[in-house]
This record gives sequence, C-alpha cells and structure tokens, in this order.
Amino acid sequence: MINVPDSSNTATLGYVSENNKLGNDSKFEMGLIRSHYIGRTFIQPAQDARELKVRAKFNTVKSVLKGKKVVIVDDSIVRGTTAKQLVKLVRNAGAKEIHIRVTAPPIRHPCHYGMDFPSQDELIANRCGGDIENIRRDLGVDSIGYLSLDKLLASVPHNNGANYCTACFSGEYPTPIDGGGSKDEHEM
Ligand code: SF4
Repeated sequence: MINVPDSSNTATLGYVSENNKLGNDSKFEMGLIRSHYIGRTFIQPAQDARELKVRAKFNTVKSVLKGKKVVIVDDSIVRGTTAKQLVKLVRNAGAKEIHIRVTAPPIRHPCHYGMDFPSQDELIANRCGGDIENIRRDLGVDSIGYLSLDKLLASVPHNNGANYCTACFSGEYPTPIDGGGSKDEHEM
C-alpha cells in the first residue's frame, strides 16, 4: 500500500494497520516520492499545466511498484487530474494492479468557504454521475473505494457538540449560499 505524500501518510498507516487486523499481510511502502520544491497542483489554472506539474512533482520507486498489486491511499479526489496522473506513473513503473482507497466521500459540490474547488462540471464524481464504477473506469484502476460520510464523521472528535461542514460531499451548506449550491451561478 502506498501513500500520496504527504497528504495521506497517516491514513495509509491506519489503513495498513486495520487491513492487517483482518489477517492480511499488507505493507506500507513509499512508492511515490514528492519533490518539495514544486507547488500545489491545486492552484494551477490550466488543466495541462496541472498535469505537467503532477508529473514534475512525483517520482516513482520502481523497485516498490514493479509487478505488484498496488493500493494507493489518497485523502480526496477533486477533479481527478492528479489521481489520473498518479495512476499513469504507477502503471508505467510496472504495477500489475492498481486500486485506490479514498479517505473521504466523493466530492460533488463546490466549496464556498475558501478551498479552490472547481465548478460542479469539473468534479470527477459529478462528471461520472456519482457512479463509483464510472469513476473507476475514468481513472483506469482495478478498483476504487471511498469512505462513507457517516464513517468520516465517526472518525473525528465531536467534543462540546463540535459540528463539521460536509457541504462538498452532501450539498448541505451550513450557511445560505447566494445563487444556490453552484459555484458557477455564484461567480457569474
Ligand atoms: S467540507 Fe466544507 S469547508 Fe471543507 S472543503 Fe468541503 S465545502 Fe469547503
């Protein structure tokens, strides 16, 4: 099992640990190495520039990936651009199977609170009609699994009645949004 450095390091450790409690023999391995001198792909305005940046940002470790059944643990999938490029890199390094596990539910709604989420049409989960099999096919992987919203919420503390925004997953915005839930309408 490999992490996407650094965003899913701890989630991958947890996933390996829980998976091995089921009697499996999975290992946490560093199949991707990230350059810390390249900025976040998230803020690149043009799709091509983002794709180039993913390729420049990550290197693969062939000795870890070649001939292996690889599980990539990622913290979220927004457009799918990064995930697609990572799948390509891991495949080119010789992985024989690629599975993705995401530590969040599918993102189907734009964020109005500061994260630069794209318009609804650009979100891979929306483009694929919210269908997990379509997302799997679009990313070109052997399987994909998302954490459910209930399980995500169960994994975080709720001290003193703490509540969490889940709008990009559920579409339920904690504050009124002008123009409804679509960021496109909002920004026109
Ligand atoms: S959970 Fe809420 S604040 Fe966080 S990214 Fe999603 S919509 Fe934005």
